[in-house]
Formats: sequence, structure tokens, C-alpha cells
Amino acid sequence: MIELHKSDKPDWITLNQHQKTMEYKAASDKSKLSPWREIEVVERLKQECSKKCMYCECFIDDASYSAVEHIRPKKHFEDLVLEWTNLGLACWRCNTNKGDYWTEDSSLQLLNPYQDSLSEHVYFHGPLTVARLRSSRGINTVRQLKLKRDDLMLSRLKRIEEFEKNLKLWHDESDAERKQLYAEDVSEAIGPDREFSGLLRAYAIQAGFPLDSDDLTTKADQQADVEASQGLS
Ligand SMILES: [Zn+2]
Repeated sequence: MIELHKSDKPDWITLNQHQKTMEYKAASDKSKLSPWREIEVVERLKQECSKKCMYCECFIDDASYSAVEHIRPKKHFEDLVLEWTNLGLACWRCNTNKGDYWTEDSSLQLLNPYQDSLSEHVYFHGPLTVARLRSSRGINTVRQLKLKRDDLMLSRLKRIEEFEKNLKLWHDESDAERKQLYAEDVSEAIGPDREFSGLLRAYAIQAGFPLDSDDLTTKADQQADVEASQGLS
């Protein structure tokens, strides 16, 4: 999971949101209506998510494995079925795991990568998304979305193994010019448009690659977790 920024609302939503929302609310069989799958809407979401799941960061270029995600579920918030800030893109697995889950308890609501400061709630350790012990929202998000599921772990480990080769080349190179080239390869591999870039970035920082540790990895935050857990025991 990495922090995302909402892009401009598609014109189609501006023009149709009111009418299509009314139609959806009035429909007796809502399963036949999915105005959020309008091509302009899906394409804009793919753009802002770099074709990655907003929760697990796997690539979802194949439309059959992607779903337009209603952050506040449409079952409980029919008025928000075409609310632009309520829409994201999720892989089939995360979308299914989340389902219609919703709670009014703000201390348990799932993390919203468009709004939340994620590093306060979760961090990466190898292929794992780890919830900070002090964050009940982080713990609930990892649990509800099953972010430690086997298939996701395997995909992430495969990417990490590939990435380790980039890091090793950079680390072992003594020639300054070649080292710079390898550093550029590492930086490219963790660009925001790359699959699992959040965890690879964290992995690079933990391996000593010079990046600002401004996100999911800071030791100070992890230490705070340890202290919090000691305080609780
Ligand atoms: Zn996902």
C-alpha cells in the first residue's frame, strides 16, 4: 500500500453522477447496473493508481482481475456509488476480501491510501505489510484484506529476489560511474509506477540504499511500537 492522490474528476461523472445515482438507488435489481465501470472512469482510476491495486500494489492491467473499489461500500452508501473521492481500483482478491465491510467505529475503519498517512499505521518488512501495534486500523486492514495471503507473499518474494540482484550490483560496484548507473536501475525499480514499489522502496532503505526514509520504514516508528508494546505488557 502506498499513498495515492486523487486526480481530476472525469467529465463523465460530472455530467452523469446525479442521474445515474438516482437510477441506481431506484433499481430493483442493482446487480444489473454498474455505471462506475464507464470507460473514462476506469481509465482515470488506472492512471492515478498506475494500474496497481490500491491496497496490495499488485499489477491489475488485466481488466478481468480488477474492480472499481467503493471505499465506502455501495451497499451501505448508495449516494456515493459515483462519488469520485469514494472510488479506487483494487485487485479481485482485495476487493472480494473487503466485500461490504464497513464500520462506524473510526478506530477500526480500513486504511484509505488517498487520505491516510500510512506510515502511522503500517510498514513493510520483507514481503509483509505489518500493522503497527498501536494502530487498530492498521491491524484491522491487514486482517480484513488478508494482506498476508500466500499468493501475494509469493509474488512479492519473487519481485524482491529480482530486486536484490539490482541492489547487489549497486552495492558491489567500486567504479563510480558504473555505480551511478546501477543506482539509477535501483531507483527505476522502485518508481511509484512499478509493482510493489512501496515494499521495494522500504527494502532498499533497509539494505542501505540512500533514499529518504520518509515512509514505511523509519526505525524511530518501529521503536515506538516496541515501547508501546512494552507499555501494554
Ligand atoms: Zn489487491
